[in-house]
Amino acid sequence: MSIAEKLSSIKKELTENVTLVAVSKTKPFSDILEAYNSGHRVFGENKVQEMTQKWEEMPKDIEWHMIGHVQRNKVKYMAEYVALIHGVDSLKLLKEINKQAKKHERVIPCLLQVHIAEEDTKFGFDADEIKELISNPEFEKLENVRIKGLMGMATFTDNMDQVRREFQSLNKLFQDLKNSLTHISILSMGMSGDYKIAIEEGSNMVRIGSSIFGSRNYN
Ligand SMILES: *Cc1c(COP(=O)(O)O)cnc(C)c1O
Repeated sequence: MSIAEKLSSIKKELTENVTLVAVSKTKPFSDILEAYNSGHRVFGENKVQEMTQKWEEMPKDIEWHMIGHVQRNKVKYMAEYVALIHGVDSLKLLKEINKQAKKHERVIPCLLQVHIAEEDTKFGFDADEIKELISNPEFEKLENVRIKGLMGMATFTDNMDQVRREFQSLNKLFQDLKNSLTHISILSMGMSGDYKIAIEEGSNMVRIGSSIFGSRNYN
């Protein structure tokens, strides 16, 4: 199947409220253009430099989502154009995003990354840290960022009951957060291997790479 065919078959499985982020990290311009020419506009990358190169080369009506871990000193390179930052995992990072957004006179939409997996290699807040963050007086002062929701990654395992439980716990946090913050509407969870479960458990944004573009080669 071509990229366009894979995209279209995945889109048929998604309900209307679910946004598909086509994860194009490591993939060439030509693959992105093929998806673009079939009508797709939302792409996800996990490295700021690679995303910025692609933003410079590609049609300007693409929405670029930063889905990876963000180093503070890289925020300035994407502040002009990034459509959504999924991986916000500290107040320090949020403050830097706010500062760079201000320079470009814009408000940057962000998701807080939540640590739901068993592995301790995955970044993110836990439930208590989110409460702490949103009650921090410094948080309220940030006028050039807007927290739109949560993002999480389940444990990399074949145990789909565990994956489901982890998604359920993220959805619960998401529902709770709606009571404390306005503008909460995005729950980013689900990748190629688990997006169907994620949607069953309340996801409305899935990040799918290999099922669209094929497996990645990291050399
Ligand atoms: C790479 C990546 C994805 C996509 O993974 P696939 O398994 O290829 O669909 C989704 N989310 C994040 C945060 C990623 O880094």
